[in-house]
Amino acid sequence: MTELAGVGAKKAQGLAAVGITTVLDLLMHYPRRYVDRTNQARIADLALGEEAMVLGRVRRAHARRTRNGRSLVEIDVTDGSGYLRCTFFNQAWRANQLKVGASAVFFGKLEEFRGRRQMTNPVVDLVGDRTGRIVPIYPQSEKAGLSTWELGDWVEEALARAGEFLDPVPPDVLARFGLTDRTAALRGIHLPHSADDHRTARRRLVFDELLRIQLVLVRRKRQLETAAVGVAHDAGGDLVGRFHQRLPFPLTGAQRRAIDEIAADLASPVPMHRLLQGDVGSGKTVTALSALLVAVQGGHQGAFMAPTEVLAEQHHLGLRSMLDGLTLPAEGDNLFGERPVRVELLTSRTPPAERARVAAALEAGDIDLVVGTHALIQEHVSFRSLGVAVIDEQHRFGVEQRAALRGKGRAVPDVLVMTATPIPRTAAMTVYGDLDVSVLDELPPGRTPIATRWARGELEEGQAWARVREEVGAGHQAYVVCPLIEESDKLEVRSAQETYDRLREGELAGLRLGLLHGRIGARDKEVVMEAFRAGTLDVLVATTVIEVGVDVPNATVMVVIDADRFGLAQLHQLRGRVGRGAAASWCFLLGEGTTAESEARLSALERTTDGFELAEVDLELRGEGTIMGAHQKGRSDLRLASLRRDKEWVGRARDIAFDLVSTTGSLDAHPSLAEELDLLLGPDGDDAGDDPTEYLFKS
Ligand code: ADP
Ligand code: MG
Repeated sequence: MTELAGVGAKKAQGLAAVGITTVLDLLMHYPRRYVDRTNQARIADLALGEEAMVLGRVRRAHARRTRNGRSLVEIDVTDGSGYLRCTFFNQAWRANQLKVGASAVFFGKLEEFRGRRQMTNPVVDLVGDRTGRIVPIYPQSEKAGLSTWELGDWVEEALARAGEFLDPVPPDVLARFGLTDRTAALRGIHLPHSADDHRTARRRLVFDELLRIQLVLVRRKRQLETAAVGVAHDAGGDLVGRFHQRLPFPLTGAQRRAIDEIAADLASPVPMHRLLQGDVGSGKTVTALSALLVAVQGGHQGAFMAPTEVLAEQHHLGLRSMLDGLTLPAEGDNLFGERPVRVELLTSRTPPAERARVAAALEAGDIDLVVGTHALIQEHVSFRSLGVAVIDEQHRFGVEQRAALRGKGRAVPDVLVMTATPIPRTAAMTVYGDLDVSVLDELPPGRTPIATRWARGELEEGQAWARVREEVGAGHQAYVVCPLIEESDKLEVRSAQETYDRLREGELAGLRLGLLHGRIGARDKEVVMEAFRAGTLDVLVATTVIEVGVDVPNATVMVVIDADRFGLAQLHQLRGRVGRGAAASWCFLLGEGTTAESEARLSALERTTDGFELAEVDLELRGEGTIMGAHQKGRSDLRLASLRRDKEWVGRARDIAFDLVSTTGSLDAHPSLAEELDLLLGPDGDDAGDDPTEYLFKS
């Protein structure tokens, strides 16, 4: 960096502190915003009480101490139209920064004090003596002892000295979308001559960011497909068809589509890595079971992994009852014999003798399907031939566990990951871009939508409890979700206990209540769950432990206390615990909208039960940072691109990535693109680690 004029050791250190160690880093340190000198609000025209940005020159600077000893710097600024006083408390250094004659942008709330317009502790960006009409303002400059005008000067010098930049994106791709070249884009983002200029530049750089991500994902997807030998399942049998015929309902169109997509993957020798996305109640289990039965009919085994013992046990029961009466031709000498599909359970609660028996049977191939938790993938469990592994609610599983499961078969088993957290399409393409994705976007018919009420105030809360009593009176059951206390597990448990005690004495006196929270032992938890399932409890008071997968169709009403503390996706998941049967269901969200965002969340839930629509709202409210989560950190490649704003470019970049990457996952035909990926995203093109889907499991 020190080749640039004015960058000495000290400044270089400052730059390094904000992650800039090369000229390339500097050029990718894009302005945070721009000030258009010709298009500034004049000080005289600003409205009081509003946030405003003022570009002006310092006319007077005065530092003193207040009576109680605080430092106070007062700066008078003018833009020709009027004067503005900026007052800084405890920022004595401002006197040095804002000397008379300096030009700067001040951002803050406009107040009036003793008849004078002023801002208190505004955000300041020095702009120096730039001549351009549009002045770039760079981020993080003050923190590292760098001013935005210094950065601007260095960028300008770097751009001038660099001349033309190599453009690694093939010209026909650029032409196809009318994208400008790299050199123009980098100039346009740092030193735009007009808003149009900036827009053109931004579009190109956004495309590059999205393309790089897609290239990495598509390359890894292709490499995975060629690196490992999977099982080519025999799709010829009739087991799956017979299973479908025996179901008490027809499959939904979405289920059929997903099952076909999965079946095509299974028939191919390339190992499957597919994500099944479907809202709560969309029928993922039947879909997954169809995949497992493809393995079974070809003589392989299937594994179904759930995140908790409760869920594993529940799935075990569910799978058993769905498979009840389904038979396979028996092997051996009994040519005409039929045998049932053999399903077993293996969790850490399985007693040692039983566990040994199941393990031996798995190894001998005497078990077709095994349902379990992590215990399934401990080293001493081995399969005769694991063909398909289904992982339910992926986010609760770690990478190592999933990798271990993959290591269980001789060939790499096909993996189906299921999630009930819908995410918008563009986000799915970015976060899950190296998986194939099937979507169950249709609920089975006959579901009465859950009527959701955001209950503000005492009167409405009273109606919620009345509804609970009414439903219980009609033979149904209810959930009460206790306040979420993220900071402390202990506090959460205490508050759950208090809620339980309060309701038992008060609002729900006379009903049979059970309590479930994170500190209740596994055994007691199961006792409570069992009682609720059996209907000997009317109301289950619980923390978010009931969020995932708990299935009691007789429960028709849910009350969430302090609903404004929960996230949108979480509330949607919780709500999915009711409305699982044919009866009409209710969900009451108690609480005030404490912020504009929580208000937007709660009213969105009131408005719709469509998980994909809610996911869009969530993306809108929270931004992509939260969706990208750990995945994006370290990868640092979405600087300009926004998954919302640049929606259509995500799909375009993905299509182009599929064109550019070879079927074996190489970019040999585009060496300069490959080089750029190495440079910007690390040698594997992947900061997240070796596992292609690692970031999936970090959320
Ligand atoms: P998910 O796991 O996606 O939340 P499940 O697989 O648990 O959903 O299914 C929810 C309920 O819907 C189950 O009781 C299941 O038997 C039932 N179900 C699944 N598919 C259909 C269908 N096509 N028609 C009617 N009911 C269905
Ligand atoms: Mg499920």
